[in-house]
Amino acid sequence: MMKRLLCVFVFVSCPLAAVITYAQTRTAATAGVTSGPSQSGLQLDALDRSADPCTDFFQFACGSWVANNPIPADRSSWGRFDELQDRNNETLKTILESAAGGGDPQSQKIGDYYASCMDEKAIDAKGIAPLDPLLKKIGAVTTASELAPIVAELHTIGVDVFFGFGSEADFKDASLEMAIADRGGMGLPERDYYFRDDAKSKELREQYVAHVAKMLSLLGVPQAQADASAQAIMRLETALAKGALDVVSRRDPTKIYHKLTPEELQTLTPQFPWQQYFKGIGAPPIYALNVTEPDFFRALGQTLDSTSVDDLKAYLRWHVAHSSAPVLAKPFVDENFKFYGTALTGAKELRPRWKRCVQYTDGDLGEALGQAFVKEKFGPEAKADTLKMVHEIEAALEKDLNTLTWMTDATKREAMTKLHAVADKIGYPDNWRDYSALRIARGDALGNSQRANAFEFRRQLNKIGKTVDKSEWGMTPPTVNAYYNPLQNNINFPAGILQPPFYSVKSDAGVNYGGVGAVVGHELTHGFDDQGRQFDARGNLKEWWTAQDAKAFTDRAQCLVDEYGGFTAIDDVKVNGKLTLGENTADNGGLRLALMAYMAGVVAPAKTLDGFTPEQRFFLGWGQIWCATRRPEAMRMMAQTNPHSPEKYRVNGVVSNMPEFQKAFSCKADTPMVRQTQCRVW
Ligand SMILES: [Zn+2]
Repeated sequence: MMKRLLCVFVFVSCPLAAVITYAQTRTAATAGVTSGPSQSGLQLDALDRSADPCTDFFQFACGSWVANNPIPADRSSWGRFDELQDRNNETLKTILESAAGGGDPQSQKIGDYYASCMDEKAIDAKGIAPLDPLLKKIGAVTTASELAPIVAELHTIGVDVFFGFGSEADFKDASLEMAIADRGGMGLPERDYYFRDDAKSKELREQYVAHVAKMLSLLGVPQAQADASAQAIMRLETALAKGALDVVSRRDPTKIYHKLTPEELQTLTPQFPWQQYFKGIGAPPIYALNVTEPDFFRALGQTLDSTSVDDLKAYLRWHVAHSSAPVLAKPFVDENFKFYGTALTGAKELRPRWKRCVQYTDGDLGEALGQAFVKEKFGPEAKADTLKMVHEIEAALEKDLNTLTWMTDATKREAMTKLHAVADKIGYPDNWRDYSALRIARGDALGNSQRANAFEFRRQLNKIGKTVDKSEWGMTPPTVNAYYNPLQNNINFPAGILQPPFYSVKSDAGVNYGGVGAVVGHELTHGFDDQGRQFDARGNLKEWWTAQDAKAFTDRAQCLVDEYGGFTAIDDVKVNGKLTLGENTADNGGLRLALMAYMAGVVAPAKTLDGFTPEQRFFLGWGQIWCATRRPEAMRMMAQTNPHSPEKYRVNGVVSNMPEFQKAFSCKADTPMVRQTQCRVW
């Protein structure tokens, strides 16, 4: 429900999939996996054999899947990732339903949390009463100078107002945790939503203001006042957004690293009493902090100054309602869905309650729930197999580096050092999080959520000034995703993704290498994409490229910027080649590395399975993990905010750069899947 702090602050980690995290996340609906009689593990009934693989490989690999899997009403998009996440969630549901009364305190906790969330009747009966204490405190504020303690309290329980605060590795000394203050407190998905002047964007802003007004009126604010306040809140958030960086700039780590002393921060934002705030959140002594976007904090100070105290209070009330909505009474849930589910992403129906509650439990008690999931679903064979593949793919990158013609030996040596330092994390954490300090009370859904957020916030604050714990995970075990963390130089593969269609002990190697193998290659390549390459072997933001090699890299990357920038996401909205550069680099490099690793193990004469050669099965394995469709609203939002390209281009954009693909499917040189200028970075 409330955003997990970890995700807010790990700026530069790169998840694999384009998960839309608004209002409802990740849980899925009806369609299960339909399995054809396949020897290879490929989804044969997903293929569109009437399509020409050399014309549109995505259509060939996924055409029938797309035709046969309409987007469920409660989803804004639907794909293979979602199918698998849905299956994982079924497992989690079973675990959660039997957890309470199971004996051990940890099971009791996840069981009670889930049961409290499921008890809609009790939640509805309470109405807005659970928010009363907070609303009273906000009501008691008389001047802007009194805001710091209440902002501190709201941040502690996960309400995102004005800015974000927490802990993150110091980009330039990545072994140490440092305090971090980041922009925040804006209810629209991204800063440009406040400024775009096309008709759709204007309409969304009108809907947003109406939504804010409705939420305030649900809190009991008289309608006329709610309407006026919503306008004021929009002005306030727009003023904050003016000071914020756009999505592309935020991908540049040098633009979001500004190490300041608390005194310097105070000078930047004289209107906000920082020491009071630090005291309010119970922060350890802070000697320096990363103020990611100084311009934002300047704008924040000016906004605090120029906004009336009544409007500031209305803004706080709105965000309290917004953050709490998912576990409040039905009118809040419905209104929240109407804007964040329907208007923004096109979903038609609210997701069933159990799916939402599974998701919230995963968000708030993920490593308690994850332990039970791993016991049930993740065997040592999958772990050993994945690790073997990871080592092979790392060896493939080593080979690739050794044979590069565009990089000097000096930079190659550094790259090799970085590659050898990559840590591989597979399945689940070695040390599980200890939730014993977190109190979960049956029948108190909102309180549970707030206490879970406070637990996490304090856990983050506790790290400040200490050594970074690289064994920690940024994703929970049942998650169908993966990531690279450039500040830790490690690749992470949760148990949730190490299953079909990504990986199966029963599948042909080609399908596994095209699936999870390419996922591994993708994450590994992130260490060397336009963002990752700026961090060294120890995770420090440090130049290790010669100027000549950096230029050669940038020239090669520009080819991908141009290629993907030419793809249309929807209507007149193009894919943003710069925003998606890191992901596209990872997709292209990752698939190539996986192919190298795979071919090293293919024994001649190659066998045909399901009518496909080993190379064809490999490419189809890649194509089929990306079978997906997206509603127009969600596609638009993705293109404007998400660093990943739409699935179709993740498939076609990559294979059309590969001579190996052309050969595998005997494509003629003038077919669409054979680009005239084939891009290659790695
Ligand atoms: Zn990625």
